[in-house]
Amino acid sequence: METDILIVGSGCSGLYCALCLPDDKKITVITKSAVEESDSFLAQGGICVLKDESDFDSFFEDTLKAGHYENDRESVKIMIESSRDVISDLVGFGVDFCRDDDGNFRYTREGAHSQSRILYHKDITGREITSKLLARARERANIKILENTTLLDIIEQSGECVGAVILNNHGETKTIKADFTVLATGGIGGLFKHSTNFRHLTGDALAIALDHGIALKNPDYVQIHPTTLYSPNDRDRCFLISESVRGEGAKLYNKNMERFVDELLPRDLLTKAIHKQMALDGSNFVWEDLRPIPEDILREHFPNIVEHCRSKGYDVTKQCIPVVPAQHYFMGGVKIDHFGKTSMPNLYAVGETACNSVHGKNRLASNSLLESLVFAKRAARDINQHPAIDHRPLPPVDLNRYADIKALERRYKKIVLEEINRRNENV
Ligand SMILES: Cc1cc2nc3c(=O)[nH]c(=O)nc-3n(C[C@H](O)[C@H](O)[C@H](O)COP(=O)(O)OP(=O)(O)OC[C@H]3O[C@@H](n4cnc5c(N)ncnc54)[C@H](O)[C@@H]3O)c2cc1C
Repeated sequence: METDILIVGSGCSGLYCALCLPDDKKITVITKSAVEESDSFLAQGGICVLKDESDFDSFFEDTLKAGHYENDRESVKIMIESSRDVISDLVGFGVDFCRDDDGNFRYTREGAHSQSRILYHKDITGREITSKLLARARERANIKILENTTLLDIIEQSGECVGAVILNNHGETKTIKADFTVLATGGIGGLFKHSTNFRHLTGDALAIALDHGIALKNPDYVQIHPTTLYSPNDRDRCFLISESVRGEGAKLYNKNMERFVDELLPRDLLTKAIHKQMALDGSNFVWEDLRPIPEDILREHFPNIVEHCRSKGYDVTKQCIPVVPAQHYFMGGVKIDHFGKTSMPNLYAVGETACNSVHGKNRLASNSLLESLVFAKRAARDINQHPAIDHRPLPPVDLNRYADIKALERRYKKIVLEEINRRNENV
């Protein structure tokens, strides 16, 4: 197999990168599971935007403050300054953000934001954005999407990335030659027992990077979301109770139904406060009360959350729900520059699997979809401006090394977790 650009992952970052590349390039997008099974489809709250120039300083400061001032300031500046361009692309692709009667955007707010600056589509913003990107990508003759096709390794020649080893949907191991490879493999929630992420997101790109000596950044920066619906038996993905619910007025209570915290603290600080309260209460959860939100707003803005809770036996218009923190997001990743370039020539990384420290130590709510899109577009632009690649045949690859897929998966998970723990110990 041969392609100009191989994109690994069909979440918002991978699809948008594909759409920002020129029509005359042959683009192959592979995805480990079905196309709808990416975290991008799960995003509830929304996507931040610079709604007017007067909000720049406040948006910048909120992002830095949430990130404990460990953010790369240039990355943050680029993200905020590029936000309107990205939103305008999305609207052009047919994304429908919530608007008022005059057709102006409506903005919502989440924890640690000092302003309402988040665009949303009910509480299924990620589905709205990603399904439209997918529809547009499917219309493009030069973009081929291969589902249930897994990246097993990259192929290196003279220190450059020249292609990949993949497992196709028939269970066959194949090589694919690519001028450029873009890692858009999302987060690492599948490595954790409790996570809001899809289980197949296990940080494969990080394991492959470790194997090839490609630089990582802050792999120990893992975000725990303070509020997911507690279930004593659930072994599946934890269901997120979006932060925008708290932004719209939901309250948190201890076992005596008393408030114990400012609900709009940044995620890491709120998570700490909840864990402390759970220990004090000797409980596996705290209570979240959505009743302060007027019922019409609750049903209009958060229909997905209302319905999911109902399916689990909770009527959020009448009763509190039990919530507990769970792994949610990965601030670290494969180290990239401001154009998505990794430390290996011709290899790029975008989205949650990449890290240029835009989020610092802790991501501000609703900055992830935005960051994924902003830097995916910049990576596409960089690839497009790259001098022509000197075409050589692929070096020989011993495919027997990939015969035992289960053993490979176990090893990949192990080395990523070991790296996270090693960095944690060095702090
Ligand atoms: C429940 C939930 C709610 C969220 N809400 C918000 C929100 O409101 N606002 C916000 O900004 N962010 C939110 N986020 C975060 C945001 O959704 C993600 O950070 C973002 O969508 C990541 O996009 P991505 O393209 O990097 O990865 P993903 O969308 O996760 O896509 C990863 C892709 O990589 C593929 N893949 C993985 N490994 C391999 C492999 N080895 N071979 C081939 N393919 C592979 C997967 O199959 C998938 O297609 C939320 C996340 C979750 C889980």
